[in-house]
Parts: sequence; structure tokens; C-alpha cells
Amino acid sequence: MNEKPVPEAAANGFGDMPAEDFRAYGHQLIDWIADFLANVGDLPAFPNVQPGDIRAKLPASPPDKGEAMEQVLADVDRIVMPGMAHWNHPRFFGYFTSSGSAPGILGELLGAALNANNMLWQSCPAATELEQVTLDWLRQMIGAPPEFFGVVYDGGSSSTFHAIAAAREQVAGLNVREHGLNEAPRLRIYTSEQGHSSIDKAAMALGLGMESVRRVEADDEYRMIPQALAGAIVEDRRAGVLPFCVVATAGSTSCTSIDPIPAIADVCEREGLWLHVDAAHGGAAAVAPEMRHVLDGCDRADSIVVNPHKWLFVQMGLSVLYTRKPDALRRAFSLTPEYLRTAQGDEAVNFMDYGIPLGRNFRALKLWFTLRYFGVEGIAARIREHIRLARRFAEQVDAHPDFERLAPVPLSTVCFRAHPRGLNDEDALNDLNERLMQAINQTGEAFLSHTKLRGRYTIRLVVSHLRVNEEQINRVWEIAQERLLALMRAEKWLAGKWR
Ligand SMILES: *Cc1c(COP(=O)(O)O)cnc(C)c1O
Repeated sequence: MNEKPVPEAAANGFGDMPAEDFRAYGHQLIDWIADFLANVGDLPAFPNVQPGDIRAKLPASPPDKGEAMEQVLADVDRIVMPGMAHWNHPRFFGYFTSSGSAPGILGELLGAALNANNMLWQSCPAATELEQVTLDWLRQMIGAPPEFFGVVYDGGSSSTFHAIAAAREQVAGLNVREHGLNEAPRLRIYTSEQGHSSIDKAAMALGLGMESVRRVEADDEYRMIPQALAGAIVEDRRAGVLPFCVVATAGSTSCTSIDPIPAIADVCEREGLWLHVDAAHGGAAAVAPEMRHVLDGCDRADSIVVNPHKWLFVQMGLSVLYTRKPDALRRAFSLTPEYLRTAQGDEAVNFMDYGIPLGRNFRALKLWFTLRYFGVEGIAARIREHIRLARRFAEQVDAHPDFERLAPVPLSTVCFRAHPRGLNDEDALNDLNERLMQAINQTGEAFLSHTKLRGRYTIRLVVSHLRVNEEQINRVWEIAQERLLALMRAEKWLAGKWR
């Protein structure tokens, strides 16, 4: 029931919330956020809900009359929070992790208040130039060459989509921009078996079809084999297929394997192919000077994607595509209707020319706030600590007789599984590990996600959260061991060879 008086602005239907109300609710919300960030580790990392539970608590239709802000905020606690998977939880180790930093929150809040649209320089000079400068800072931080031009998109998938579109625009004699693909030969993109699904999605969306993506064999450590790439290109050319792009990965999604980019760059140069490097997650590691090798060879790439919303502590919705060929990207996407023509001409960067989005929000603010607050050294120190913690966890897995590691740890993701002594049936192991991961997640104390590596069910621990520390790593390791023991007991496998 709506007991509070309906606010003035909502009641008469004109204007915004009064400034004094905004101030009061704003303070209240910031206090709520500060408490949340301080105590998120005490909340369940993953909610105990079924599909539809949250929907069922929400009204099916919008309110006819404005509601009191108190009620809206109360419903956050009552309805939203019980359904949250807490990506800001210090023991959220799933997927790739993304931790919103406090400075990033403030930057995003300010961005919402300013509500700029930097589609054109003219539509917001500060947002355009701040984005350029901040992306150039980040470029320096990862050691990429000065000619790399950066553009912000909402995610790594969008960045890769735009890179592949630019690569295609480069193909001589094709002119897809004007003619579409009607008279084009069959085109080919190469990536390893571990390449991200966003490459297939880009091929789908660009009208190339998933068949245009050829998966190149990887070695024992899940890295693309350059000779296999070269062989695939020769074979395709013989068959009349036109190779145009290679997507190498620096930090694959499943196991953070790093393709041998210098050798792949050799192949691309020889064959005249666009080299795009997917460093969406792994690129961040290069901020630590001793990890620069992660991006070895990237100075020879045509484009590279890095996601600050993963391991650079910026809120979701911020990926950066760097390219040495911004002209190709512009040729693929620029289109200026009369109402968007401006007097600056070529003097200013108009970000609308570099992709599908026209209207763009002031995303660079949250990156700028985060980089300035932590500094390059502060970010490097955190990344270094994550790598140390991951290696420590890996050592514990290696030393345990009933667990094993399933991939090297070049960054800070550990791929492992339970492998109790005497249990060697692969199907049984897959089944056991699936249940083990569910059991760990059901504790609510930690959240992990999985992959399959060469058919094996693999539990992944991604150590890249801003709030993670040694205590959290020790705790998740304890939970994993306890849950395994409990499962084995329940299955009465203890009576057999195990223990
Ligand atoms: C996360 C990730 C992507 C996809 O990025 P989104 O921002 O989720 O679209 C692509 N490639 C790699 C290697 C990734 O880790």
C-alpha cells in the first residue's frame, strides 16, 4: 500500500524529482551502497532461487501513479537483492569475474548525471576527448604501440564484431559496404579451437555464416598451432575460399591459454591477413610489467580487444577495441545523414563513425575515475597479487592426492577437478565434478563456473576480483575439499578404494 504521500513532481506529471528529494535519496542510496560493498561477502554469492521466482514478486504492469521513492528502494531489498548473483562478492570466482570498483561506481553515477551523448565531437567535446585520452592511457599501460586508436564498445563481443567487419572492408575488390555479399567469394576467418564464441556470432551477424569460421587445432596447452593455421590457409586457397582474418587469443575464456602471437603474426603478414587479438580478459595482465609477454606480438596485430570490465575493475559495459587501421573501421561504418553533419569535418573524432552505435554514453568516465584512483602501479599490484594467489591455489591442487589441475596457469585462472584415488572412469569423474561444483555453489559461500577441456568437466577458479585475498582463496579451497568428502561419503565411495 502506498502510504507515503506521492511526490509533487510525480503527482502533477511535470518536471523531475525536486533537488532536495534527490539529495536526500542520493545520500540514502550512497549509504546503502557503502554498506553493501563493505558487507557483500556475508551475502550468498549466488541466490537460492528458481527461474520465475523474482518475476512472480514483481507487478506485471507499470504503476499508473508515481510511487514513493521509499517504496522503490525498499523493493530493492525485498525483491532484487534476494535474486542477485553477487559479482561483487569476494568469493565470486565464476566466468571471468568483473568487479565494480568504488571509483568506477562514482564515475558511472556522474556519467548518468551528465548524460552526455558523444556520437559526435560536437555533441559533447569533453566526452569525446576524455574517451580518447583515457583509452590512450590504457594503451600505454598495456604496452601497445602509439598508432593504436581506441574505441569503446559495450563488450568484447561487440569489439570483435567491429574488428572483423573492418578486416572484411580491407579485402581488395570486395566492397561489401556498397554491394553486400551477393557476388563475394566464400570468406574465411581462422581462430583456435579455444577461440571465443563471439567470433562465430560476428560471422553470423556479418552475413558470413558460421561455416566461415575455421577452428585451427591447438596444442597440449590449448594454444593455436601456427603450422596448422598455415596449412589450413593453403588448403582453403586451393579450394577457392578467400582467407581474410585470423583471431588469435591472449587468454582464452576456458583456460586462459595464450596463442603464440608472434608466429601467428608471421603467417598473417605472409598471407596478407588481418590479425585481430582477443585479449578481452588477458590483456589486463600486461599492465604488470613482468606480464607484458602476454601481449608479445600484438604490436604487429591490426586490432586487439581489451575489456576493462573484466580484470581492470571497471563496471560492466566497457570494452576497448584498439586498431592501427581506424580508416578501415570508418570505411565499414561511417554514414553521415544531413542532420549529423558538422563544421569540424576531419579535425575532430566523431565516434559514431566507428561502429553501429550512434548515441553513446559517457562510458570513459568510469575508466578515467578508476585509473586515476588506483594509478598504474596500484592496478599492477592487484593483478600481480591475483596471479600469486592463483598459483598458490594451483600448488595446493597439485599437492592434493584427490584433486588435479587440467591446464597450465599462465594468468590467474585455475582449471581443476576432483580426481579421487582409484576413480578413473571419465564419465564418473565428469558426473562427480559437476555435482561437486553444484555442491560448492549451493553453500552460497562461493561461486564457481565450469568448462569442458578435451571432454573433461573442468571447474574454473578465476582469481581477478578486486576484493579477493588469501583468506578467500583458503576458504574456497576448504569448501571444495569438504564438499568432495561429503559427496564421497554420501556415495559410500569411501568404503572402496578412496581413502
Ligand atoms: C569475455 C570474453 C569475450 C566476450 O566479452 P564480452 O564483453 O562478454 O562480450 C570474448 N573473448 C574472450 C577471450 C573473453 O574472455
